[in-house]
Amino acid sequence: MNLIFLGAPGAGKGTQAENVSNKYSLPAVSTGNMLREAVKNGTEAGLSAKRYMDAGDLVPDEVVIGILKDRIALDDAKNGFILDGFPRTVEQAQALERMGVNIDKVLNIHVADERIIARMSGRRVCSDCGSSYHIEYKPVKSEGVCDSCKGSVELRDDDKPETVLARLKTYHEKTAPLINFYDSRGKLRTVEGQEKIEDTTRLTLEAIDS
Ligand code: ADP
Ligand code: ZN
Repeated sequence: MNLIFLGAPGAGKGTQAENVSNKYSLPAVSTGNMLREAVKNGTEAGLSAKRYMDAGDLVPDEVVIGILKDRIALDDAKNGFILDGFPRTVEQAQALERMGVNIDKVLNIHVADERIIARMSGRRVCSDCGSSYHIEYKPVKSEGVCDSCKGSVELRDDDKPETVLARLKTYHEKTAPLINFYDSRGKLRTVEGQEKIEDTTRLTLEAIDS
């Protein structure tokens, strides 16, 4: 089974992708996490990606498509995968089709812009394993320490309020067109993002079965 999670930054795609990944034992593939990892390791892709990410822009298609293609070719993805944050442009979606990847369902997590802005300031991420947290909705057990790997949990550089607005604008311009793209292919399932993570997970699992 191949799934895609679509939604605005901060809609909760990553959290839901992690939950579904555990339930179905499929790898969650987050291009955002892979890019942050590349930035941290100072690789060539990371160096070129950082300025786009910090500005709230998308990293160029050719860079991200290359990273994604290598990732889904790995052994653990041979029975399926969950894409979180890819595709983010129609060009990326077309690239997936050209690779011959069949997508079963696209889960579109819908959250209104006002709520996104309010949520993002509380978001935190583990700088070692990429696990996501929220000071209110999904707090760590011990201040600043990742529950799963004991890594350091921090505010992301691009979660500053100015950057959040730029990322929302980028989402509406470049990514929202994918809603029609996948709806016209009969793949789209919209999930209303709820206040509680487990409520959204329940709706997400229902949408996967529908
Ligand atoms: P969010 O969904 O909260 O915006 P991500 O971790 O998915 O966070 O992405 C962070 C940043 O990484 C994006 O703002 C963008 O700059 C870059 N990025 C991630 N995935 C892609 C992609 N598929 N195409 C282009 N840029 C991407
Ligand atoms: Zn961690």
